[in-house]
Amino acid sequence: MASTDASRFEQRPVLVFWELTRACPLACAHCRASAIRERLPGELSTAQGNTLLESLRDFGPPYPTLILTGGDPLSHPDLWAIIARARALGLHVAVSPAVSPRLSRAVLDRFRALGVASISLSLDGAQASTHETLRQSPGHFAQTLEAIDLAQDAGLRVQVNSTVTGASAAEWPELFQLLRDRGVPVWEVFFLIRTGRGAGLSELTPSEAEDVCHFLYDASQYGMVIRAVEAPFLRRVLRARQAGAPPPPSPLYRSLRSRLEGSAGPAARPSSLAPVGTLDGDGILFIGHDGTIHPGGLAPEALGRFPERRPAEVYRSSPTLRSIRRREFHGACGRCAHRAYCGGSRARALAATGDILGTDPACLRAASAEA
Ligand code: SF4
Repeated sequence: MASTDASRFEQRPVLVFWELTRACPLACAHCRASAIRERLPGELSTAQGNTLLESLRDFGPPYPTLILTGGDPLSHPDLWAIIARARALGLHVAVSPAVSPRLSRAVLDRFRALGVASISLSLDGAQASTHETLRQSPGHFAQTLEAIDLAQDAGLRVQVNSTVTGASAAEWPELFQLLRDRGVPVWEVFFLIRTGRGAGLSELTPSEAEDVCHFLYDASQYGMVIRAVEAPFLRRVLRARQAGAPPPPSPLYRSLRSRLEGSAGPAARPSSLAPVGTLDGDGILFIGHDGTIHPGGLAPEALGRFPERRPAEVYRSSPTLRSIRRREFHGACGRCAHRAYCGGSRARALAATGDILGTDPACLRAASAEA
């Protein structure tokens, strides 16, 4: 188990997620939080929330961006005061609201007026039936497209989040084109982790995940910023393709690519993919609704609890997070030459093996090494 050089995120994360509440009007099939209709009694109080915001300045400048998530942040009665307080403290704020009738134009305008940097909205397929099977809400596909348009019209930077499962991967060229036609600037593709209510859904096989990564590399050459969540092995694929390696000859990849080029034409720009980035606990920290601090939203290992522990102290001193940042992994990820800039999904390693430092089983290289 060899360690690598210290992470560039050793002192501070770039993103701190605060799960304001688990209350949400939706009941999505893949919900990390297993969100429910009503707020739970253990949520941080208003006073504790204010102290939490102040504690984020412990990290020192440049402060991490605060992402207010849930559940649905609009289910929290103090949302507006929290945004205003965070902005007054000099924090950049992004919000991840659920698409529901509450997400009105007036609400979007208020986000903009308070200086919210961006909002993320979830769209999980190019077909209504695919999206609505996950969201479990008839009509939600059209409502989400309307919300994307409304948010852009309100002047907000919109990031669309899409969860890719074994059942939805084939629609990705059409989903990409749908977002491109709407001028969406940022597309974040979540590779499903079987945790929360998503435990019963189908993940991509390692071969399918590799095909989708090659497709995302292709799609990243049309001007849209594309990021992958819980698939850092996309960085391995990026580096291989930029070094001239051929894409896989598999039927799934060939189909994805030919449909991409059929609608978008030949790629004309450099890839927008980042060759380095974050992992849970390495550039990312997640604070749950009750103050429990985790490496990431899909990695539910408890590291401590606010207000007894402060986030900066936990982030810098946690043995688990230090091991993640030093790439002290077990199994194939621990032996892999790509671990400095990849490192595998720590959330998937935890969900699949019970060891957050274990191997990410969705990676084709890891699967080949352990076969
Ligand atoms: S084996 Fe692990 S570190 Fe290596 S490329 Fe795969 S996920 Fe990344």
